[in-house]
Amino acid sequence: RGVDELLQWADIAMYRAKEAGRNVVRFFDPVMQESIERRAALESELRDALEHGEFNLFYQVQVDAGRKVLGAEVLLRWQHPQRGMVAPGEFIPLAEETGLILQIGAWVLDEACAQIARWQYFGVLRDLTLAVNVSARQFTRPDFVDQVKATLQRQAINPLLLKLELTESVVLDDIDASIDKMKALKEIGVHFAMDDFGTGYSSLAYLKRLPLDQLKIDQSFVREIDTAQADRVMVMTMIDLGMNFELDIIAEGVETEAQFDCLYRYGCASFQGYLFSRPVPLDEFEKLVFARLF
Ligand code: C2E
Ligand code: MG
Ligand code: MG
Repeated sequence: RGVDELLQWADIAMYRAKEAGRNVVRFFDPVMQESIERRAALESELRDALEHGEFNLFYQVQVDAGRKVLGAEVLLRWQHPQRGMVAPGEFIPLAEETGLILQIGAWVLDEACAQIARWQYFGVLRDLTLAVNVSARQFTRPDFVDQVKATLQRQAINPLLLKLELTESVVLDDIDASIDKMKALKEIGVHFAMDDFGTGYSSLAYLKRLPLDQLKIDQSFVREIDTAQADRVMVMTMIDLGMNFELDIIAEGVETEAQFDCLYRYGCASFQGYLFSRPVPLDEFEKLVFARLF
């Protein structure tokens, strides 16, 4: 084994020590190397995935209290030639770290807008909204507003049909800049939802200032709404909050009729979760929309 390899090992151990908060000792362990190699492999595969057309979008239906279809959230899926379907939880963090999320996010936005455009020829699909998740790296780019506007123009769609999902950490990083960007896009009709609401630093001060349209109650609160008193109180408070701020409320992760009943009684207006449908490919989603209509 050469000196280079030895130095590389020492380097890996040093990084682990830094990750552990510095001022600690870490010995090199072959497992460390394996995890780094796995990561490097995933990263290079991720780089090629866009070019190779390995990404596609799944659609998860959003319904109103009468279970009428309002639209869908688009969720990214990576169809890896060897690994099969890779969940976003496994590659989005890496895509964010490496900056690849910028290209991937642009692709997702374009694809969602293109789908809205294709639906304009079909009566029942014409009014469906699509919600698109936006990552921190994307949103904090100075040209984010221009990118969204350019996409809307290229696809020639009604901006009212596009909803962008942001999370608290994305928005609060630089709240003034966030407000400016949101306002610029709201002016042309784009809607905004706060994803994973209740899991972050939810404060009334920021809620008052942000030009939001919708709060999305995180699934962690919905999960035990019919059994845990504390979660029930949280959800009721969030729904009241939304009503007082004149925001639409959507609950995510609704899996059972009991959860749906509970949310409905508290005044929740929109719903998303396995109870209605899992995220599915486009053709299945369209079938579901038609099946619910006739
Ligand atoms: P999210 O935006 O909060 O999406 C909701 C997640 O909950 C999705 O997982 C969805 O499949 C799952 N889910 C929906 N209904 C239920 C339910 O009833 N029960 C349970 N247990 N889970 C349910 P998914 O598709 O794995 O996405 C995970 C996260 O990855 C998303 O969380 C979002 O933060 C991120 N993500 C997905 N697509 C994109 C994308 O295009 N761009 C960016 N930046 N992030 C994305
Ligand atoms: Mg989301
Ligand atoms: Mg969420």
